[in-house]
Amino acid sequence: MNRNAKARLEDFMAGCVRRNPGEPEFQQAVREVAESVLPLIAGEPRYQKARILERLTEPDRIITFRVTWQDGAGRVRVNRAWRVQFSNAIGPYKGGLRFHPTVTQSVLKFLGFEQIFKNSLTGLPMGGAKGGSNFNPRGKSDTEVMRFCQAMMRELHRHIGQDTDVPAGDIGVGQREIGFLFGEYLTLGNRFTGVFTGKGLAFGGSLGRTEATGYGTAYFLRDMLAAAGHDIAGKTALVSGAGNVALYAIEKLAELGAKAVTASDSSGFIHDPHGIDGERLAWLKDLKERRRGRIREYAEHFGCAYHAKARPWGVPADLAVPCATQNELSAADARACVEHGVIAVAEGANMPCTAEAVAALRGGGVLFAPGKAANAGGVAVSGLEQSQNSLRISWSREEVEGRLQAIMRDIHEKCRDAGAQADGSIDYVRGANIAGFRKVADAMLAYGVV
Ligand code: NDP
Repeated sequence: MNRNAKARLEDFMAGCVRRNPGEPEFQQAVREVAESVLPLIAGEPRYQKARILERLTEPDRIITFRVTWQDGAGRVRVNRAWRVQFSNAIGPYKGGLRFHPTVTQSVLKFLGFEQIFKNSLTGLPMGGAKGGSNFNPRGKSDTEVMRFCQAMMRELHRHIGQDTDVPAGDIGVGQREIGFLFGEYLTLGNRFTGVFTGKGLAFGGSLGRTEATGYGTAYFLRDMLAAAGHDIAGKTALVSGAGNVALYAIEKLAELGAKAVTASDSSGFIHDPHGIDGERLAWLKDLKERRRGRIREYAEHFGCAYHAKARPWGVPADLAVPCATQNELSAADARACVEHGVIAVAEGANMPCTAEAVAALRGGGVLFAPGKAANAGGVAVSGLEQSQNSLRISWSREEVEGRLQAIMRDIHEKCRDAGAQADGSIDYVRGANIAGFRKVADAMLAYGVV
């Protein structure tokens, strides 16, 4: 980056930090996008004059509210919830809900901001949003989770709608929670509409949505490796997480001939050199999706290593696919990956690699796919779920998977074209940011000053 570009970036970020104090995750996400698009904006006065980036880094609105509910022991509990409606320039607001004690306004702003570019990359008409609560579903009974979801929806229902804002799941929000949330929405408004995605198949969900994020990440990784002359078949992969994204990334990696040898949760990770596939994967899915158990139990059952309070990035492997949460792969982890032979990293989670980690990976010659491109398959199939709801039809699994593969291929091509470097390499971070930004910016220009 030349001196002018650096000065423009630091100047822009100084304003961003001033306007968003105490929001490190949001500042981190903005910096990464600004670094890519400010040089583009400098060469296009119409974007500059319309102050597109200044407008895009300010959410349209943030709704903050209290959720009061009663636990199983009859105690009154109070949580805080948010919906960050970031941009509806190219379609209704769209983005998941997260339930986790680490949820803050900063985390939801970073996720909502990223969602703008990700949704744009899918080519579908979806704006960017995110929401959630600091509610911790771990250890709560089904009844307690239901009561919380119902209490949250009593406020949220005013702000969402199939043409306004369409939430979905994220960390801590799976089919159980979506069922409770959608059920309450239905009861409050007496309207059966496609206001949520990730719904159960019995009430308007799409085949293939559960698998979409993990599968899409594996497809993107395959395409990125192929563009660099590598075959994904025969490679070993480090996967973190054992939730929705991780489980289906592991499954598709196995189908493509690769072998995931790790999985984790917030307590530690397992290392299974045999590979997590077939019967082992089915057991893990049952453990995590139905029994809601801990990853340690996998190691006990299959007799492999379990490392408490540790992350998998020091294990030798060819690929790394972080699928748990933001900033879970540090610069030191990245250096360990480079040292132990990792040639490609695809982010299944949102922003799992710190900025320093991304620099270390790219400095070490590792191919790097940012989450906003690599994990866009989930929201893409959410977009397909919305289409099916509007048409009042259901597509077959093959139809949905075919469309998902085509969308992921298209996203890869967009990133490759916009991220092509003079030396022949591809900067996927820059490619994803620029390709995602252009469509949104052009829509905003068309609307004038609003
Ligand atoms: P899940 O809740 O299904 O799984 C999350 C997994 O990550 C769990 O294994 C969890 O362990 C672990 N985890 C969560 N927080 C932490 C933490 N602070 N430290 C270590 N491990 C943690 O979530 P998803 O799989 O749906 O989401 C994972 C990531 O993928 C998130 O970044 C999400 O934003 C992103 N994403 C999800 C999409 C989707 O369709 N679901 C779409 C696109 C991106 P534990 O059970 O111990 O908490």
